[in-house]
Formats: sequence, C-alpha cells, structure tokens
Amino acid sequence: MIQVPRGTQDILPEESYKWQYIEKKLHEIAKNYNYEEIRTPMFESTDLFVRAVGGSTDIVNKEMYTFKDKGDRSLTLRPEGTAPVVRSYIENKMQHNVEQPVKLFYLAPMFRYERKQKGRYRQFVQFGVEAIGVEDPLIDVEVLSMLMNIYQSFGLKNLKLVINSIGDIESRNEYNKALVEHFSPRIDEFCNDCQTRINTNPMRILDCKVDRDHELVKTAPRMYDYLNDESKAYFETVKAKLDKLNINYEVDYNLVRGLDYYTHTAFELMSDAEGFGAITTLCGGGRYNGLLEMMDGPDKSGIGFALSIERLLLALEAEGIEIPKAKGIDLYICTMTDKARNAAGTLLHKLRSRNISADMDYENRKLKAQMKDADRKNAQYTIVLGEDELDSRQADLKNMETGETIKLSFDDIINTLEEL
Ligand code: ATP
Ligand code: MG
Repeated sequence: MIQVPRGTQDILPEESYKWQYIEKKLHEIAKNYNYEEIRTPMFESTDLFVRAVGGSTDIVNKEMYTFKDKGDRSLTLRPEGTAPVVRSYIENKMQHNVEQPVKLFYLAPMFRYERKQKGRYRQFVQFGVEAIGVEDPLIDVEVLSMLMNIYQSFGLKNLKLVINSIGDIESRNEYNKALVEHFSPRIDEFCNDCQTRINTNPMRILDCKVDRDHELVKTAPRMYDYLNDESKAYFETVKAKLDKLNINYEVDYNLVRGLDYYTHTAFELMSDAEGFGAITTLCGGGRYNGLLEMMDGPDKSGIGFALSIERLLLALEAEGIEIPKAKGIDLYICTMTDKARNAAGTLLHKLRSRNISADMDYENRKLKAQMKDADRKNAQYTIVLGEDELDSRQADLKNMETGETIKLSFDDIINTLEEL
C-alpha cells in the first residue's frame, strides 16, 4: 500500500475545520494591519534561495527539495517565503508603488527536507508578512504588534517574545571579526558545520543546535557591545515603542536567527506552555537591510516574520484551547419511501442553488438512524418526507434546537430557510 510521503500529512475533515478557522483569522488580522496577499509560485530557480537565504544556512545546505526539470533548469520547491516575495518586489518594480512600505502577506506551503519530529514536517504551511521599502522602528514595532495580536487572538497566554539587534552591516562585520577571534583557537572542538561557519558566517555558530552548550558559546562576545551608535539608537527606539504598547519581551544577545541577511531587529516567539515538547519556537523574523541590493534590486530594506500553522496548532493544544466547530448544515431531509428519496433529490437541488446547505440519507436507513445522521451533521432543521408530504407538497419544518415544528409548503420551506 502506498502511504503519504514521510514528513507530510493528510488534513482530514476532523482537522481541516481548524485550519479554515485559523486561516480566516489570519486574513482578518492582516486586513486590520493593511497587509495584502501575495501568491508566488510553489517553485523557484534554485539560485534564488542559494543567493537570498545564503550558502551557510541549513535550508540551503541540507533541506532543499531541488530538481532538474525537462529543460535542464535547476528548480527548488519553496523552502521559505521571504526570498520569493523579495524577488517579486524587485521584478515587479514595487519600489515605484506610491505607497511604501509595500505590505504583503502569504499563507502557503513550504518544503524542507528535515528529520521528522513533533512540530517539524517536510511540507508545512507558513503565514508570513513582509513590509518592504521603509526603514523605521515604527514598522518593526507594527510587525511585532501584529505577531503578538495573532497569537493572543486565539487566547494563547504562555508566550515569550525574544528580541535582539544584529545591528547594521558595519556593526555586524565588526562583531563577526570578534567572534572569529573568540572561536578560532578552539574551533576543532566544534561540529563540522561550525568549522565551516567560522569562515562563512561566524554568527551562526551561536545558533548551532549541536554546540549550543559549549563553554565558548556561553562566553561569546555580545552583539550589543559591537553595535555602532546608530544601530544602538535604532534598537533602543524599538524597545521603547514596545514598552509603550505594553508588549512584553526579553532581550537575548545570542539570538541571531538562521538566515544570512538579517540586520537590526531579530526576534522569535516561543511558547513556554508546559507539555509543548522540545521545539518551542512558534515564529521567527527580523529586518533585512541589504538583501534587496544583494539581489540586484533597489536600495530598500524590509522586515517580516513567518510562523507555521502546524506549530500554532501545537501551541493551542498545549494550552487546551479548542477551536470552535464550523456550523452545521441548514436542513436535513429524512425520507420514508423511494419516491420520497427522489423528491428529496429534487428539493436539495433547489435549496442548494438558493445558497442553503442541505443533505439527505443515501443509504436507505431507518428514520431513527437518519435523525442521528442529522444530529451528526449538526443540522439546524429537519423535515421528514413520506407519502402524505408528497401528496400535499407540505412538510413539518422542525427546529432541532427548540424542537418546534411548523407545517409549510415545499416552496415556503425554501423561502423560510433562505430568510434565516
Ligand atoms: P527551527 O529552528 O525550528 O528549524 P527555523 O529557524 O528553521 O526553525 P524559520 O525558517 O524561521 O524556522 O521558519 C519560521 C517558522 O516556521 C518557525 O518558527 C516554525 O514555527 C516554522 N517551521 C520551520 N520549519 C518547520 C517545519 N519543518 N515544520 C513545521 N513548522 C516549521
Ligand atoms: Mg529549521
């Protein structure tokens, strides 16, 4: 028997209503902050990710689904959303849009070849936002405000926002030099990846999952001490504005984030709910100055974040928050005879074309079993069709919640339900 590919899942009706609820909420919140949806292709030129995400990252080194198409082009299933959005901004010359920053969101599947574990899939859905075109602490705070708003709107409480500043490119270069000096003498005690990272992107050593407990990681120089005055001022402004909005955060000087292009504000949101499991990061993001230019685009900066629905669901589960079930159908038609079953088919066609949700029994079950089915389908109303009802073209419309019934003609049943 062929099974679902490792690291992927079927989302069955018992679960899909949760996804619909979450997706709707995310659209609403994006609207409140005036972010508009962008849809980019599911695959891109491999070069896009190699250049934009960076050759020293796990994504590019280990996790990409890369393949050649029949035209011998190297393509990659999208592992993350920022690079495609930035490509699109540049390609569609959005820097000339009247309104800046251009505020975009996406809600789309991502693909990474990862070791399967709880909260880690090979296909997962990310919601992400990007505000591109303006560098201003106000925008950083807007993005963080939206992030917190999203999680709080589901009633989540055990949230920990962690922020840091990576500074501008000048500060970052100074800091990287200091890290090389710090780690070089004992780099042979680190994992193979870190031995490469020290040459390609030393900051990523601080983000290593293998060496996180190494003494030298704990005693590493602090980014904050290498921020130039402008970078420090930027960071202080962001923090002051967060304080003003009563958004709680912790500063973690070792937070560097995985991607190569971050500058200034970097952040992660964690769940500190008990029973969440080993992976506690719900969302990550930050500002990226220099990314657009590096991709031959205009000198514009952006900021964004990405979260996965899978981990949001885990957080909800860990805090015991239930997502409301979608409402059931408007009408369930019970039938007593074959003739009634045929009449029900015709009635259903009319009801549905008038935008009324309705269903019937297709298995010739006894009335009691049909009523049970109506309950399972959460029907608001039922009617029972037998000989008498077909002759008089009338039926008792029963309100399943109150038990009340009224006798109505078939046409009036449709009209009444339509009005409701
Ligand atoms: P991690 O350190 O957990 O691997 P990451 O740094 O690779 O995370 P990002 O690229 O920042 O993650 O992605 C943003 C968010 O997407 C993460 O915070 C997480 O919620 C989610 N995410 C990342 N990878 C996966 C995955 N394989 N399955 C489900 N969700 C994921
Ligand atoms: Mg990862």
